[in-house]
Amino acid sequence: MKRVRFAPSPTGSLHVGNALSAVANRAFGDWLLLRVDDTDPARNVAGGEEEILRDLHWLDIEWDEGPVRQSERLERYREAAAPVGDRLDGVTLLREDGTATYQLASVVDDVDFGITHVIRGNDHRPNEPVQARLFAALGARPPEFVHHGLILGEDGKKLSKRAPGATVGSLRDEGIPAEAVRRYLDELGLPRHDVRYDLPRLKRLAIEAIAALPDEELAARAGAPLELVPALRGARDLNEARETTRAILEPEPARLDESARPTLDRFRELLNAANGTLDPRGLLRELKAVGGDLKALRLALTGRDRGPELWAVIAALPRDEALRRIDAAL
Ligand code: GLU
Repeated sequence: MKRVRFAPSPTGSLHVGNALSAVANRAFGDWLLLRVDDTDPARNVAGGEEEILRDLHWLDIEWDEGPVRQSERLERYREAAAPVGDRLDGVTLLREDGTATYQLASVVDDVDFGITHVIRGNDHRPNEPVQARLFAALGARPPEFVHHGLILGEDGKKLSKRAPGATVGSLRDEGIPAEAVRRYLDELGLPRHDVRYDLPRLKRLAIEAIAALPDEELAARAGAPLELVPALRGARDLNEARETTRAILEPEPARLDESARPTLDRFRELLNAANGTLDPRGLLRELKAVGGDLKALRLALTGRDRGPELWAVIAALPRDEALRRIDAAL
């Protein structure tokens, strides 16, 4: 049984590289501990743990035990360090105030929770020898260490948490569906070497993920009624789908001049004639065939001169609402 742990510091929404560690641990381990490394007060951010839990739920990553907070185990670390001392080979284990450092707390936890594999980013490679010695000093067998490549910025340097799309929270805010982020991370797996962050690929995966969402799910995520879904299908991300929803449900007021009247009158006739069996594409073809001004129709229906495909707007609007907007525009 492979026992693994994901051990973020509560510094707010997860960096994509950290999310990669979480996904890799989940994929590799049979049993996963969620541990919160909160022994360094200078690094703790208010609400940081909640944001991480939200990210993990969003990415559909489940854990088997935790969250275990290191700040609640300080007594245990002191007790474990007693036979070893405050320092080991020059590495500080206990600070002057008696609190445990990351090195001590991490190893004591890995021992106590029976961790068999430590899977984490390359940046922790220098900790391996220190921690291996500490396991030995505590009379425990060290786990197997697996250090995966980091996700770097386009410049090949560390991806700043402020860079576009660098945190799980920022991707969510941009309307990237969780499935796309998860798939991108799953595909990376356990990279042996550092990789460059491929945001364009993630955006392509977002388009695929939206295409794969069932109608009900897409409607729910866009905050739209089911009838709107055809208009949402072309959206590249969920924010676009939400904007389309707004464009259809909350039109801008439109005032058109007399030149639009023939088009709108004809549209009204076609709509009335359709009577339950509306074929919006066919209707638009007919309207166009008689020289109808589709731009004016769009303006009348949405108050905007651009937006989702016009047939999808017509399909999404109840007939009475479409007629009301036509009348109001003239
Ligand atoms: N709290 C550390 C970090 O977020 C985890 C270190 C570890 O996995 O041992 O980088």
